[in-house]
Amino acid sequence: MGSVIGVVGGGQLARMMIPPAVALGVELRVLAEIDGASAALAATAVGDYRDAATVLGFAADVDVVTFDHEHVPQDVLAHLVGAGIPVRPRPEALEVAQDKLVMRRRLAALGIPVPVWAEVRDRDGLAAFLDANGGAAVVKTPKGGYDGKGVRIVRSADAADDWLATGAVLAEELVEFRRELAQLVARRPSGDVAAWPLAETVQRDGVCAEVTAPAPGAGKLSDEARDLAEAIASGLDVTGVLAVELFETTEGRLLVNELAMRPHNSGHWTIEGAVTSQFEQHLRAVLDLPLGDTSSHSPVSVMVNVLGGPAGATMPDRYPDALAAHPDVKFHSYGKTSRPGRKVGHVTATGTNLDEVRARARAAAAFFDA
Ligand code: ADP
Repeated sequence: MGSVIGVVGGGQLARMMIPPAVALGVELRVLAEIDGASAALAATAVGDYRDAATVLGFAADVDVVTFDHEHVPQDVLAHLVGAGIPVRPRPEALEVAQDKLVMRRRLAALGIPVPVWAEVRDRDGLAAFLDANGGAAVVKTPKGGYDGKGVRIVRSADAADDWLATGAVLAEELVEFRRELAQLVARRPSGDVAAWPLAETVQRDGVCAEVTAPAPGAGKLSDEARDLAEAIASGLDVTGVLAVELFETTEGRLLVNELAMRPHNSGHWTIEGAVTSQFEQHLRAVLDLPLGDTSSHSPVSVMVNVLGGPAGATMPDRYPDALAAHPDVKFHSYGKTSRPGRKVGHVTATGTNLDEVRARARAAAAFFDA
């Protein structure tokens, strides 16, 4: 294995792989969707990741291919494998993160606790599921959803007709949760797994808003979450970073909601908060190098996302005031044009007192509110 990594997708996750690649002296090449993508600093190609010839051409002179997102079609991945190019995570693992019905089936087969679910094909099927689950369900399109798009709470059998017209959907019980958690692990092809401390996540309108690590008061849930994530990483033969999104139910049980097989928003805090960031670890893992220490530098890290607003201001426009007010907070701008609701950056504060660190991170992020 050499040391040229090809990343398909030019978003902020690819962008944040650049600093550790520079530090390690690993060459990163990015296949971006558009000119001026978030990861443009490392972009060596612009093209359509759904086109096999484009992806094969990009991959021809890299040592391993990995991803900024999960949307590369299986037939394109099959071409890469057929050409003898190492793909990490492997297509068989990635498929589980591409299709929520496949995910539920595979997790259930591994004995992992998940919400009550069913594959629903029509209105009658949804009616039966609603009847059996107290009259409410969360319906999800199997593919292509992100940031809450493709997720809908329904209370009547005709409320998903538009999605059912195009195929089967995933129906789930509406879980009553105390909070959402995320367990991040990394696994290298030879099997070693490293887990970061469990994090607490807060979503607003289906979009990650804030992450606190370690998750306050998690106690033995931390061990349970780590065991679950390690079992999933091994059971699905994942390589690279795996994020396991969890519900902590009102009864204190853990249920797995979602998987992502790449660096994840719930792990941005690791850039400043952990000895090895998720971005560095992903590079190590896909190159099958020894994994780094995942322990926290500080007792508490809080990450707050910055979303674009109608004003269209960029984060750097507000730097003079924000940086002056918060010299001890770390600011990350993704270099993306601002659109309402779009993730354009994040801030991270670290320290010892949860309330103080949280207040500081929120105050710093508030400088970028529209
Ligand atoms: P996406 O792929 O868009 O991230 P998710 O499946 O993670 O979609 O769902 C987005 C959010 O919707 C979750 O973070 C959670 O807040 C809520 N949600 C999803 N599934 C359920 C469920 N079964 N019960 C209650 N809330 C849910």
